[in-house]
Amino acid sequence: MQIAAKKAVSIDYTLTNDAGEVIDSSAGGAPLVYLHGAGNIIPGLERSLEGKQAGDELNVSVEPEEAYGEYSPELVATLNREMFEGVDELEVGMQFHASGPDGGMQIVTVRDIDGNDVTVDGNHPLAGQRLNFKVKVVNVRDASDEEVAHGHVHGEGGHQH
Ligand SMILES: [Zn+2]
Repeated sequence: MQIAAKKAVSIDYTLTNDAGEVIDSSAGGAPLVYLHGAGNIIPGLERSLEGKQAGDELNVSVEPEEAYGEYSPELVATLNREMFEGVDELEVGMQFHASGPDGGMQIVTVRDIDGNDVTVDGNHPLAGQRLNFKVKVVNVRDASDEEVAHGHVHGEGGHQH
């Protein structure tokens, strides 16, 4: 069975950056299960998997615009420490949920703390990076009508509800 829209696909994968560092991997755990054609995974990877079948292995390099976007300096802001009232120990690297300009939630990361000035970065941690995936297709099956309606996979490796 070939990967196409409305298929539930299981993949083993290892994600490395251009420096060869492993960023994420399914090794040692369960495969990633996703609903093809529903935007569950980054567009560049989803498109490369189209037409593949169980047992196929591929190496895919995904440019930032097909992954987590280019790094945008406009998403970096300096806030007053008072904005973080209630946080016991503010540290570089901490992440917070914040409402973005479009009203949606985004994760911001504390980049720098200088006195009362706290620099936060709303870019995705992988923004601006080319992502190199080594992927093996483990299984392909038809998604159920319910899964297609929900836009995600149910059961093992998927949503449990
Ligand atoms: Zn569901």
